[in-house]
Amino acid sequence: MSDFLDLPIADLATQVQSGALTARQVTEGALARIERTRDLNALLFVAKDAALAAADAVDAKRARGQTLGKLAGVPLAIKDALCTTDAPTTCASKILTRAGAGNSGGTDPTQGFRAPYDATVVSRLREADAILIGKANMDEFAMGSSGENSAFGPARNPWDQARTAGGSSSGSAVAVAAGLALGSLGSDTGGSIRQPAALCGVVGVKPTYGRVSRYGLVAFAAGLDQVGPFARDVRSAARMLEVIAGRDPLDSTSADVPVGDYEAACNREVRGLRIGIPEEYFGEGLDPTIAENVRTAIGELEKAGCSVKPVSLPHTKYGIATYYIVATAEASSNLARFDGVRFGLRIEDAKSDLISLYGKTRNAGFGAEVKRRILLGTYVLSAGYYDAYYKKAQRVRTLIKRDFDPAFESVDAIAVPTSPTPAFRLGEKVDNPLAMYLADVFTLPASLAGISALSVPCAPTPATPARASLPVGLQLLGPAFAEERLFALAAEVERRVGGVRRPPTA
Ligand code: GLN
Repeated sequence: MSDFLDLPIADLATQVQSGALTARQVTEGALARIERTRDLNALLFVAKDAALAAADAVDAKRARGQTLGKLAGVPLAIKDALCTTDAPTTCASKILTRAGAGNSGGTDPTQGFRAPYDATVVSRLREADAILIGKANMDEFAMGSSGENSAFGPARNPWDQARTAGGSSSGSAVAVAAGLALGSLGSDTGGSIRQPAALCGVVGVKPTYGRVSRYGLVAFAAGLDQVGPFARDVRSAARMLEVIAGRDPLDSTSADVPVGDYEAACNREVRGLRIGIPEEYFGEGLDPTIAENVRTAIGELEKAGCSVKPVSLPHTKYGIATYYIVATAEASSNLARFDGVRFGLRIEDAKSDLISLYGKTRNAGFGAEVKRRILLGTYVLSAGYYDAYYKKAQRVRTLIKRDFDPAFESVDAIAVPTSPTPAFRLGEKVDNPLAMYLADVFTLPASLAGISALSVPCAPTPATPARASLPVGLQLLGPAFAEERLFALAAEVERRVGGVRRPPTA
């Protein structure tokens, strides 16, 4: 039995540090569980050999009498958008995998692009003696809200495999929910950590923009992208953030702000904190059960001594339009580098000139959603439309950001739902991009404003004959660099209404 895979991160690390468990035992347990849950399609690459070698190195370090790090022997999954030297990095795209038969674009993610360096967050996990067990499935280049834009098939929700795990960090959320890993890293540009965390019933943290280094994260929209942790409980997520956060000379946008004691914050008193409720987030389109369970969780915070008051975020309704202009503009520029010359796939024929090499490679390598965004982004940046779309969107982004300033003068944190619906069915929204974009309505404003945010499970939906019980996420938003406060509140919610639950398929 590998029950140790169900422990909180700190408890497992303590056992490995003390020698009660070896890192090899733990890693072998995780690899066995990965084998048993292949149906979930959570991982694109299982780093079996590298993980076992890393585990042996941790055990040898202990045998030499050296002190082990905060994540000693803890198996973690890494979103496949983060560069790793000992595993491929594909962003779940054919363009970063080797060409298949008939120049069709890559089909095998285990034959993906090999990065020459580790992302800073990956190096920091390794320095803390974590074991990186694999690369997690995702929407191609982190574009999507359901995992269905992965070139290698969607990850499946462990609470109901016919349903989406959310996106874009779908595999990272599934790996943690199903216990293949104790924690994982994802990236959040407009909700891609918080939304899958909510749909899979785990904790997901989108740190303040600049809190965590982006060096080695394949850029989607660099002005919004942030790396953050997933874990089954709040304290485990806090420990992971502590390890990865902090200034990095390799990322000039990483902030020189001291890293908080996030783990200790989980035991901090929340009495006296003021919680804002923006009515803009509780209107039309919100599933009534989610509204109820989120309000119940907020009620529990009141019982713990918090005060609750309304706040107004009037520009919320422009979030989707603004985000899908700003993010696609940045994406169209960032993805220009995938041209068949420098990375991954190259599709050419005997007569190919450079332009047709670009065209053929990009046509075969990118999926439909990525192409849609490159087209949209190129359009909004083009000479005649720049002012009307891109510049206007940047101005509205400033208004959305400014909504939060007066709100955070009167409250310490804001509590809202993470997702308007519980996990939807695979296939339900794939043909309707606008319906898919609406899944992000509650997560986009915090991304556009660059503030701190997380999702923590509250009470799940009741099981009915037609639908299994599905997880519900409460989203907490705080000012920039207020992660400690969010961890304190999330831990209180967890103690009162949440708690770790194990999905039926794991
Ligand atoms: N779902 C949003 C999108 O499709 C957000 C993605 C993300 O945060 N990476 O762009």
